[in-house]
Amino acid sequence: IVKMKGMNKHFGKLHVLKSIDLTVEQGEVVVIIGASGSGKSTLIRCVNGLEEYESGILEVDNHPLAPKAGNQKTLAEIRKGVGMVFQQFNLFPHLTVKKNIMLAPMKVKSASQVIANATAERLLERVGIGDQADKYPSQLSGGQQQRVAIARALAMEPKLMLFDEPTSALDPEMIGEVLDVMRELAKDGMTMMVVTHEMGFAREVADRVIYIHEGKIVEEGNPSEVFDNPQNERTQAFLSRVL
Ligand code: ATP
Ligand code: MG
Repeated sequence: IVKMKGMNKHFGKLHVLKSIDLTVEQGEVVVIIGASGSGKSTLIRCVNGLEEYESGILEVDNHPLAPKAGNQKTLAEIRKGVGMVFQQFNLFPHLTVKKNIMLAPMKVKSASQVIANATAERLLERVGIGDQADKYPSQLSGGQQQRVAIARALAMEPKLMLFDEPTSALDPEMIGEVLDVMRELAKDGMTMMVVTHEMGFAREVADRVIYIHEGKIVEEGNPSEVFDNPQNERTQAFLSRVL
């Protein structure tokens, strides 16, 4: 569902993504790890066109996403099918939890109020906060807000979900509840690209782990290959610091 071939990106003089080759199959969970500044966020932001790249090939759900600006129509089409969850939850503070979830389906997909409402209620149950629908984001804990953010992304029925350090802004006791929701999603067959420092989650849930060093994929394999028997010395050094 995602295909990258020889993808390069610079921020000015800084070469952030260096000839990235990466394919993600339908239903696969790919976890991306690497040191701060290695390019993890930039990589997944390219997948829904939040960042442009300069050269190479990127295809999302069989739509080619051209480097630079690209075709706006294609971009809109791709974004409809790709959900994204950030470290900061980015909920609309002036809308209730339920309205946060109803907004995009009504605006982008022209869903009726009745349908959008039913979808929102179902998704809030699914992420375990059916009783919080009429509260405002500021009245929820961080873990609850992040679960709303996940429900909001799911409301668009994405084919692919991108997560950029979804638990990094949470107090430790709330990390588990968000990872549980992600684990369930993976079990239900959602295709996911996840940037995380939660190595336990990566080991348990990932089909494939990618290690990025200074904009390059230097190691790739199933969790036990990468965690138990890393081949690259950069990966070894990184893991010895975080595990
Ligand atoms: P972290 O773990 O800290 O989130 P990361 O692996 O997600 O790091 P990126 O955010 O992708 O790293 O950044 C990769 C490099 O690109 C870094 O050196 C960063 O400073 C730089 N960078 C990121 N965004 C921009 C931007 N908008 N303009 C200029 N440089 C940027
Ligand atoms: Mg980042």
